[in-house]
Amino acid sequence: MTMLVNEKYHVKINDWQDIFTMNNYTDSLDPTKEKLKRVINKYTLPTKGKCGLSNCGTAHNNGYIVETDTGKLTNVGHICGKNHFGVSFQTLEKNFNREYRDRQAKEKIASFKSNSNQYLEKVIATENTYGKISHIHKLQQFFTHASKGCPSSILEMIKLMVKNRNPTIYKTIKLSKKEYETLKTSGVKAPSRYKEIPIGTIDGLAFLYNENNLRVYAEDFKNPLDELLNLNISSLSSSQLDRWSKKIGEFDRTINQTHEIMIDSKIFLDRRNILKFRKLIPDDDTQFIYLIKILKDQFDIKN
Ligand SMILES: [Zn+2]
Repeated sequence: MTMLVNEKYHVKINDWQDIFTMNNYTDSLDPTKEKLKRVINKYTLPTKGKCGLSNCGTAHNNGYIVETDTGKLTNVGHICGKNHFGVSFQTLEKNFNREYRDRQAKEKIASFKSNSNQYLEKVIATENTYGKISHIHKLQQFFTHASKGCPSSILEMIKLMVKNRNPTIYKTIKLSKKEYETLKTSGVKAPSRYKEIPIGTIDGLAFLYNENNLRVYAEDFKNPLDELLNLNISSLSSSQLDRWSKKIGEFDRTINQTHEIMIDSKIFLDRRNILKFRKLIPDDDTQFIYLIKILKDQFDIKN
Protein backbone atom coordinates (compact mmCIF):
# COMPACT_ATOMS: atom_id res chain seq x y z
CA MET A 1 0.00 0.00 0.00
CA THR A 2 1.38 3.41 -0.89
CA MET A 3 0.87 6.20 1.55
CA LEU A 4 0.90 9.90 0.95
CA VAL A 5 3.85 11.56 2.63
CA ASN A 6 1.62 13.18 5.21
CA GLU A 7 -0.42 10.10 6.00
CA LYS A 8 2.68 8.18 6.84
CA TYR A 9 3.20 10.45 9.82
CA HIS A 10 -0.33 10.17 11.09
CA VAL A 11 0.59 6.99 12.92
CA LYS A 12 0.64 7.30 16.64
CA ILE A 13 4.11 7.26 18.22
CA ASN A 14 4.08 4.73 21.05
CA ASP A 15 7.68 4.63 22.21
CA TRP A 16 11.13 6.09 21.50
CA GLN A 17 11.95 3.24 19.12
CA ASP A 18 9.16 4.43 16.83
CA ILE A 19 11.06 7.71 16.58
CA PHE A 20 14.61 6.36 16.27
CA THR A 21 13.61 4.01 13.47
CA MET A 22 12.00 6.66 11.27
CA ASN A 23 13.57 7.02 7.82
CA ASN A 24 16.05 9.92 7.71
CA TYR A 25 15.94 10.35 11.48
CA THR A 26 19.00 11.85 13.14
CA ASP A 27 19.62 12.25 16.87
CA SER A 28 22.07 15.12 16.34
CA LEU A 29 20.64 17.72 14.04
CA ASP A 30 22.58 20.99 13.89
CA PRO A 31 19.92 23.73 14.04
CA THR A 32 22.38 26.36 12.78
CA LYS A 33 22.86 24.48 9.52
CA GLU A 34 19.34 23.23 8.85
CA LYS A 35 16.20 25.13 7.95
CA LEU A 36 12.91 23.96 9.36
CA LYS A 37 10.40 22.78 6.77
CA ARG A 38 7.49 21.51 8.83
CA VAL A 39 6.28 19.77 11.96
CA ILE A 40 5.06 16.31 10.99
CA ASN A 41 4.05 14.52 14.18
CA LYS A 42 3.93 14.83 17.95
CA TYR A 43 4.46 12.50 20.87
CA THR A 44 3.74 12.14 24.56
CA LEU A 45 5.72 9.28 26.01
CA PRO A 46 5.93 7.73 29.49
CA THR A 47 9.74 7.61 29.49
CA LYS A 48 12.19 10.45 28.80
CA GLY A 49 14.33 10.63 25.68
CA LYS A 50 16.92 13.08 24.40
CA CYS A 51 16.19 16.10 22.32
CA GLY A 52 17.54 15.49 18.80
CA LEU A 53 19.35 18.82 18.41
CA SER A 54 23.14 18.40 18.42
CA ASN A 55 23.68 21.37 20.75
CA CYS A 56 21.04 20.26 23.28
CA GLY A 57 20.17 16.69 24.19
CA THR A 58 17.88 17.62 27.09
CA ALA A 59 15.69 14.72 28.20
CA HIS A 60 11.93 15.19 27.79
CA ASN A 61 8.63 13.29 27.46
CA ASN A 62 6.69 15.45 25.03
CA GLY A 63 7.72 16.91 21.72
CA TYR A 64 7.43 17.10 17.97
CA ILE A 65 8.98 15.38 15.00
CA VAL A 66 10.26 18.05 12.63
CA GLU A 67 11.49 17.85 9.06
CA THR A 68 14.14 20.15 7.60
CA ASP A 69 14.61 21.39 4.03
CA THR A 70 17.23 18.70 3.43
CA GLY A 71 14.72 15.99 4.36
CA LYS A 72 16.20 15.12 7.76
CA LEU A 73 13.94 14.31 10.68
CA THR A 74 14.54 14.83 14.36
CA ASN A 75 12.65 15.27 17.61
CA VAL A 76 12.45 18.48 19.61
CA GLY A 77 10.51 19.65 22.62
CA HIS A 78 8.25 22.68 22.45
CA ILE A 79 10.73 24.96 24.19
CA CYS A 80 13.77 23.76 22.19
CA GLY A 81 11.89 24.26 18.96
CA LYS A 82 11.10 27.81 19.93
CA ASN A 83 14.61 28.58 21.18
CA HIS A 84 16.46 27.19 18.20
CA PHE A 85 14.10 27.83 15.31
CA GLY A 86 12.16 30.85 16.59
CA VAL A 87 8.96 32.12 15.01
CA SER A 88 9.05 29.69 12.13
CA PHE A 89 8.81 26.80 14.60
CA GLN A 90 5.95 28.44 16.47
CA THR A 91 3.98 28.94 13.27
CA LEU A 92 4.59 25.39 12.09
CA GLU A 93 3.74 24.04 15.54
CA LYS A 94 0.48 25.95 15.56
CA ASN A 95 -0.48 24.76 12.09
CA PHE A 96 0.38 21.21 12.95
CA ASN A 97 -1.62 21.23 16.17
CA ARG A 98 -4.65 22.65 14.40
CA GLU A 99 -4.41 20.03 11.70
CA TYR A 100 -3.85 17.33 14.31
CA ARG A 101 -6.93 18.36 16.27
CA ASP A 102 -9.03 18.47 13.12
CA ARG A 103 -7.89 15.02 12.15
CA GLN A 104 -8.65 13.58 15.57
CA ALA A 105 -12.08 15.20 15.59
CA LYS A 106 -12.86 13.85 12.12
CA GLU A 107 -11.88 10.35 13.18
CA LYS A 108 -13.98 10.61 16.31
CA ILE A 109 -17.03 11.84 14.39
CA ALA A 110 -16.66 9.22 11.65
CA SER A 111 -16.29 6.47 14.22
CA PHE A 112 -19.32 7.74 16.09
CA LYS A 113 -21.42 7.84 12.92
CA SER A 114 -20.66 4.23 12.18
CA ASN A 115 -21.54 3.22 15.76
CA SER A 116 -24.54 5.47 16.33
CA ASN A 117 -26.89 2.48 16.30
CA GLN A 118 -25.59 1.48 19.71
CA TYR A 119 -26.89 4.74 21.11
CA LEU A 120 -30.24 4.44 19.40
CA GLU A 121 -30.65 0.89 20.68
CA LYS A 122 -30.17 2.11 24.26
CA VAL A 123 -32.91 4.67 23.71
CA ILE A 124 -35.24 2.05 22.24
CA ALA A 125 -34.63 -0.22 25.24
CA THR A 126 -35.49 2.65 27.59
CA GLU A 127 -38.67 3.50 25.67
CA ASN A 128 -39.76 -0.14 25.56
CA THR A 129 -39.59 -0.25 29.34
CA TYR A 130 -40.82 3.20 30.33
CA GLY A 131 -42.81 4.57 27.38
CA LYS A 132 -42.09 7.17 24.73
CA ILE A 133 -39.78 9.87 25.98
CA SER A 134 -41.80 12.60 24.22
CA HIS A 135 -44.97 11.38 25.95
CA ILE A 136 -43.34 11.30 29.39
CA HIS A 137 -41.92 14.76 28.74
CA LYS A 138 -45.46 16.06 28.18
CA LEU A 139 -46.52 14.58 31.51
CA GLN A 140 -43.55 16.28 33.15
CA GLN A 141 -44.72 19.58 31.73
CA PHE A 142 -48.28 18.88 32.80
CA PHE A 143 -47.18 18.59 36.44
CA THR A 144 -44.95 21.67 36.35
CA HIS A 145 -46.62 24.22 34.04
CA ALA A 146 -49.89 25.95 34.91
CA SER A 147 -50.77 26.30 31.23
CA LYS A 148 -50.89 22.53 30.67
CA GLY A 149 -54.17 21.97 32.48
CA CYS A 150 -53.25 20.43 35.82
CA PRO A 151 -55.85 21.46 38.47
CA SER A 152 -54.45 24.56 40.13
CA SER A 153 -54.54 23.53 43.82
CA ILE A 154 -52.83 20.24 43.07
CA LEU A 155 -50.23 21.99 40.93
CA GLU A 156 -49.54 24.50 43.71
CA MET A 157 -49.02 21.75 46.26
CA ILE A 158 -46.70 19.87 43.93
CA LYS A 159 -44.73 23.01 43.15
CA LEU A 160 -44.25 23.63 46.85
CA MET A 161 -43.01 20.07 47.40
CA VAL A 162 -40.60 20.39 44.49
CA LYS A 163 -39.37 23.76 45.73
CA ASN A 164 -38.73 22.35 49.21
CA ARG A 165 -37.49 19.06 47.79
CA ASN A 166 -39.69 17.42 50.37
CA PRO A 167 -42.06 14.68 49.19
CA THR A 168 -43.93 14.45 52.51
CA ILE A 169 -47.69 15.01 52.53
CA TYR A 170 -48.85 16.81 55.66
CA LYS A 171 -52.20 17.04 57.29
CA THR A 172 -53.19 19.99 59.47
CA ILE A 173 -54.82 19.00 62.73
CA LYS A 174 -55.95 20.86 65.80
CA LEU A 175 -53.77 20.64 68.91
CA SER A 176 -55.23 18.99 71.95
CA LYS A 177 -55.92 21.25 74.88
CA LYS A 178 -52.97 19.76 76.72
CA GLU A 179 -50.58 20.25 73.82
CA TYR A 180 -51.68 23.85 73.44
CA GLU A 181 -51.21 24.55 77.16
CA THR A 182 -47.76 22.97 77.08
CA LEU A 183 -46.74 25.25 74.22
CA LYS A 184 -47.99 28.30 76.07
CA THR A 185 -46.25 27.48 79.33
CA SER A 186 -43.01 26.74 77.51
CA GLY A 187 -42.90 30.39 76.49
CA VAL A 188 -44.04 30.30 72.85
CA LYS A 189 -45.73 33.59 72.06
CA ALA A 190 -49.23 33.28 70.56
CA PRO A 191 -48.85 29.60 69.65
CA SER A 192 -50.85 28.16 66.77
CA ARG A 193 -53.74 25.92 67.65
CA TYR A 194 -52.85 23.66 64.75
CA LYS A 195 -49.98 21.40 63.80
CA GLU A 196 -48.94 19.57 60.66
CA ILE A 197 -48.38 15.86 60.79
CA PRO A 198 -46.90 13.73 57.99
CA ILE A 199 -49.41 11.33 56.48
CA GLY A 200 -47.62 10.06 53.40
CA THR A 201 -44.97 10.55 50.76
CA ILE A 202 -45.11 11.22 47.04
CA ASP A 203 -42.61 8.86 45.45
CA GLY A 204 -40.38 9.77 42.52
CA LEU A 205 -40.77 13.51 43.10
CA ALA A 206 -37.33 14.01 41.52
CA PHE A 207 -39.08 13.41 38.19
CA LEU A 208 -40.27 17.01 38.46
CA TYR A 209 -37.00 18.62 39.54
CA ASN A 210 -35.76 21.26 37.19
CA GLU A 211 -32.42 19.56 36.57
CA ASN A 212 -34.28 16.46 35.40
CA ASN A 213 -36.17 18.17 32.61
CA LEU A 214 -36.50 15.68 29.76
CA ARG A 215 -35.90 18.53 27.34
CA VAL A 216 -32.27 17.46 27.71
CA TYR A 217 -32.97 14.38 25.56
CA ALA A 218 -34.03 16.33 22.48
CA GLU A 219 -31.64 19.21 22.99
CA ASP A 220 -28.49 17.31 23.83
CA PHE A 221 -29.04 14.04 22.00
CA LYS A 222 -31.88 13.57 19.52
CA ASN A 223 -31.63 16.85 17.60
CA PRO A 224 -27.83 16.99 17.43
CA LEU A 225 -27.73 13.32 16.43
CA ASP A 226 -30.12 13.90 13.53
CA GLU A 227 -28.01 16.83 12.43
CA LEU A 228 -24.80 14.88 12.82
CA LEU A 229 -25.99 11.93 10.74
CA ASN A 230 -26.62 14.29 7.84
CA LEU A 231 -23.34 16.16 8.15
CA ASN A 232 -20.63 16.11 5.56
CA ILE A 233 -17.58 15.85 7.82
CA SER A 234 -15.13 17.06 5.18
CA SER A 235 -16.95 20.36 4.86
CA LEU A 236 -16.67 21.26 8.54
CA SER A 237 -14.52 24.11 9.78
CA SER A 238 -12.07 23.63 12.64
CA SER A 239 -14.41 25.24 15.15
CA GLN A 240 -17.33 23.07 13.96
CA LEU A 241 -15.15 20.00 14.31
CA ASP A 242 -14.29 21.02 17.88
CA ARG A 243 -17.93 21.61 18.69
CA TRP A 244 -19.11 18.26 17.31
CA SER A 245 -16.29 16.36 18.92
CA LYS A 246 -17.31 17.81 22.28
CA LYS A 247 -21.03 17.13 21.68
CA ILE A 248 -20.39 13.48 20.90
CA GLY A 249 -18.47 13.15 24.14
CA GLU A 250 -21.60 14.23 26.03
CA PHE A 251 -24.06 11.84 24.36
CA ASP A 252 -23.42 9.00 26.79
CA ARG A 253 -24.12 11.19 29.79
CA THR A 254 -27.34 12.51 28.22
CA ILE A 255 -28.63 9.02 27.45
CA ASN A 256 -27.85 7.82 30.97
CA GLN A 257 -29.49 10.89 32.45
CA THR A 258 -32.58 10.35 30.29
CA HIS A 259 -32.74 6.76 31.46
CA GLU A 260 -32.60 7.85 35.12
CA ILE A 261 -35.38 10.38 34.60
CA MET A 262 -37.53 7.72 32.93
CA ILE A 263 -37.08 5.47 35.96
CA ASP A 264 -38.30 8.32 38.18
CA SER A 265 -41.25 8.89 35.85
CA LYS A 266 -42.43 5.34 36.34
CA ILE A 267 -42.27 5.71 40.11
CA PHE A 268 -43.98 9.09 40.07
CA LEU A 269 -46.74 8.11 37.62
CA ASP A 270 -47.50 4.83 39.35
CA ARG A 271 -51.21 4.38 40.00
CA ARG A 272 -50.86 4.10 43.79
CA ASN A 273 -48.70 7.21 43.85
CA ILE A 274 -51.18 9.26 41.85
CA LEU A 275 -53.98 8.18 44.20
CA LYS A 276 -52.07 9.79 47.07
CA PHE A 277 -52.62 13.15 45.41
CA ARG A 278 -56.07 13.10 46.90
CA LYS A 279 -54.50 13.71 50.29
CA LEU A 280 -52.80 16.86 49.00
CA ILE A 281 -56.10 18.70 48.84
CA PRO A 282 -58.40 16.87 51.24
CA ASP A 283 -61.11 19.57 51.08
CA ASP A 284 -61.60 19.51 47.32
CA ASP A 285 -62.19 16.13 45.77
CA THR A 286 -63.40 17.66 42.50
CA GLN A 287 -59.83 18.72 41.65
CA PHE A 288 -58.59 15.21 42.27
CA ILE A 289 -61.37 13.66 40.18
CA TYR A 290 -60.62 16.13 37.40
CA LEU A 291 -56.93 15.25 37.58
CA ILE A 292 -57.67 11.55 37.16
CA LYS A 293 -59.92 12.32 34.20
CA ILE A 294 -57.27 14.39 32.41
CA LEU A 295 -54.60 11.77 33.00
CA LYS A 296 -56.89 9.16 31.48
CA ASP A 297 -58.24 11.22 28.57
CA GLN A 298 -55.08 13.08 27.57
CA PHE A 299 -52.29 10.78 28.66
CA ASP A 300 -53.90 7.38 28.69
CA ILE A 301 -52.93 6.82 32.32
CA LYS A 302 -55.61 4.73 33.98
CA ASN A 303 -56.11 4.83 37.70
ZN1 LIG B 1 16.57 20.49 23.02
